[in-house]
Amino acid sequence: MIVTRLVGRGQMLENPVLQDSSLRNGKIRSTGKKVTCMGSEETAVARLERLVREAESAGASDVHLHQMGGGAKVQLRLDGVLVAVESLAQDLAERVFGRIKFLARLKTYQDSLPQDGRIAKEDLGTRNDVRVSTYPTITGEKIVLRLFQSVSVRSLDELGFPAEARGALEVFLRRNGGLLLLTGPAGSGKTTTIYACLRWLVDHGGRHVITVEDPVEQVVSEIMQTEVNEAAGLTFAKASKHLLRQDPEVLVIGEVRDDETAQTAVRAALTGHLVIATLHAGSCQGVIERLLVMCPDRYAVLSATALVMNQRLMRRICGSCQGKGCAPCCGSGYRGRVPLLEWLMMTDELREKIGREGALGLAPQRTLEQSAREVWEAGVSDQNEYRRMMGI
Ligand SMILES: [Zn+2]
Repeated sequence: MIVTRLVGRGQMLENPVLQDSSLRNGKIRSTGKKVTCMGSEETAVARLERLVREAESAGASDVHLHQMGGGAKVQLRLDGVLVAVESLAQDLAERVFGRIKFLARLKTYQDSLPQDGRIAKEDLGTRNDVRVSTYPTITGEKIVLRLFQSVSVRSLDELGFPAEARGALEVFLRRNGGLLLLTGPAGSGKTTTIYACLRWLVDHGGRHVITVEDPVEQVVSEIMQTEVNEAAGLTFAKASKHLLRQDPEVLVIGEVRDDETAQTAVRAALTGHLVIATLHAGSCQGVIERLLVMCPDRYAVLSATALVMNQRLMRRICGSCQGKGCAPCCGSGYRGRVPLLEWLMMTDELREKIGREGALGLAPQRTLEQSAREVWEAGVSDQNEYRRMMGI
């Protein structure tokens, strides 16, 4: 298999016939290997299990394995950033890649087209199933393993929000109607915030809570959770439309992606439902602007919206090594993250202003830049991380 890859790579991309023959060679060679190299096959199995176990205990969200220059580079996404941890020799890499594809029920000989799969937690000894994505690159195959880390649902206090932001959240959760919109890129902590809100709602009982998520990352007892299933036609839009007839008091819409869902969320918030949703935008102002495009009834949008929060996660300097790099932080110098927030609590005054002048120039209660600077200046993080957060 190794030989066919090395010989075939250049031509495989453009010559399907050659690809076929090398696939056959690959099959024969790997069958032969099973008989002769039982020992090394086992090593690949053990190595993969160890790699995933270590990634889990380091708190990584993803494991990246990339074949390049006669081996594979292994990186972990730790606290949102890729950190190189080791490299695998070519021979071992080949067998680890084969093992991953075998467990994920993918075509083990296919390395020139992307494949997606899933490894059951029992097969790899992980806490949760692992999502597998393979992708061809010019230096060789790349595999990303997504680990679904089961974080216990945190309370509002454990989110680590500034007191004012936490207070704004609780004021919202006590209301009988209105819309909370959360924004921020993937991995910025929005889901954790939503689960903390759900936990607060459960603890302060009595309300019927329904969620539509993609995917459900944590099961919360006492509430009704549904997962989007695009293949079966259960989209956010369809689920949101129908779940109103399930008589909810609180709706959580994992992501507002389309006009229909946006309009449903606004309508629900105006008719005595508490609605929590995420929406992609770069700022609080961007959320309002985007919502106004998706739902042209400006009066309805402004009346419905109660709170907008824009969130990021900034890495903390590792407490064990003070940023020098040690084993627990995988040499990165950082461990754990602190939330940065900007938020906008809607008031009648603001509604009038936006109604008159639009959302342009809308200033949040505190900007992300101010939050990041405070965290850096308090010595919790550093200047490099500040610059990364600000993209400068
Ligand atoms: Zn450290």
